[in-house]
Amino acid sequence: MSQYRVQNPATGEVVETFETATDQQIEEALAQAHDAYIGWRERSIQDRAAVVRRVAELFEERKQELAEIISLEMGKPLAESIDEVEFAASIIDYYGVHGPGLATDYEIPSTIPGKAVIEQRPVGALLGVMPWNFPYYQVARFAAPNLVLGNTIMLKHAEICARSALAIEQIMRDAGVPVGGYQNLFASHDQIAEIIADARVQGVSLTGSERAGAIIGEQAGRNLKKAVLELGGIDPMIVLDADDVAEVAREAWGFRVSNGGQVCNSNKRLIVMDDIYDDFVAELERLATGLEPGDPLDLSDGQFTPLSTREAAEKVHSQVQQAVAEGATLRVGGVLSDGPAAYYSPAVLTGVPRDSATYRQEIFGPVATVYRVSSDEEAIALANDCDFGLGGSVFSTDPARAKRLSDRLEVGMTHVNTIAAESAELPFGGVKYSGFGREMGPLGMGEFVNRRLHFIAE
Ligand code: NAD
Repeated sequence: MSQYRVQNPATGEVVETFETATDQQIEEALAQAHDAYIGWRERSIQDRAAVVRRVAELFEERKQELAEIISLEMGKPLAESIDEVEFAASIIDYYGVHGPGLATDYEIPSTIPGKAVIEQRPVGALLGVMPWNFPYYQVARFAAPNLVLGNTIMLKHAEICARSALAIEQIMRDAGVPVGGYQNLFASHDQIAEIIADARVQGVSLTGSERAGAIIGEQAGRNLKKAVLELGGIDPMIVLDADDVAEVAREAWGFRVSNGGQVCNSNKRLIVMDDIYDDFVAELERLATGLEPGDPLDLSDGQFTPLSTREAAEKVHSQVQQAVAEGATLRVGGVLSDGPAAYYSPAVLTGVPRDSATYRQEIFGPVATVYRVSSDEEAIALANDCDFGLGGSVFSTDPARAKRLSDRLEVGMTHVNTIAAESAELPFGGVKYSGFGREMGPLGMGEFVNRRLHFIAE
């Protein structure tokens, strides 16, 4: 089902459906986005930043309501939903506060007579195509810096995030973003292609799978539009040694199963040194044993949430089954519930053969996949034997040894003794099939900017 809707993954019940936009509505949206840009870019950056700070305040004020929407839509535990809204608000506020300072004009020395200034100017109307796994955070990363810069936004959210998509649009309107400045579009994929081709649109940012990234990137290239692609990952977490192996295993497990394991930079490959491997896996098995399905809106200890859709749960199940058929061992979990609910019990998988099809795939669900290695060289070779390159981490009691290894990771974000550092000021993005471009932090302001040369001859 590709229709925009709210469908509770805990029950499979379709709660509400929404009409896909007509071509006429898309044309009106394009016209409004362009018209709004003409006015929005003329306002001072301080003025735009003040509106964006108000957006952040409204996210905070409506936290509970916003959180309940996504827990129902895509099954996130309510406590994690609240964390997400708070994080989105902090990112939006970061650009409201620091954005103007990050977009200032600056002079560069000129060898010919005159004054050369690099100006940072908006480019126009932009299209965002966003996934369901963090419905607010993903939009915040893209929309906030661009609104401060003076660009306008058309946002196509995932089909299962219709209510959160509308709630964001309402906040933008209530905060004072002008008509056409931020528009939600319930657009079809064909309409997205038309929007990218339209001369009034200057760029597109997609967060999603590499499959969608390749399609959108191709459409952008054909139409000479700038694109930012934030795609998937199979991030390595290398554990060389530990004072308390079980403690590191608990950290690995907590991150791997958060958000139902549906996190782009989740530690999807746990690469563990031979002498601590058995203890590490034993702790994961203990953590994965005896878990029961629970209600995302009212979750108790020992319970897990559904995946985003029945389709997603079936896909994860079939990937794990394929891994087992290829020689891997499913140690615990990995049980698909009866339909139409989307529960899949958190699993521990070991012994995935390096030459299997599964080895190269992202499993977008709560599956801890563990590999045994016997040297630092073997660990880094395995970590880099991957088509993706989003993030990665190395754990050791010797931070210098961990740093030496992390320096060799082919990824966009490396970490020592933490899995993933995330905060409004820290840039996010990858290399290889994980895409290109960066969001968040100072670099997040730099993607859809006209760095215009202004030269005054002497
Ligand atoms: P998806 O690619 O199926 O969908 C993402 C968005 O793209 C949705 O809005 C979808 O409707 C749209 N889309 C898909 N095909 C399209 C087409 N042909 N034309 C126009 N729009 C199209 O991804 P998903 O399943 O929603 O999200 C999961 C994926 O996103 C995972 O691979 C995950 O790793 C990745 N992800 C990456 C990041 C990051 O920052 N790098 C963050 C979150 C998720």
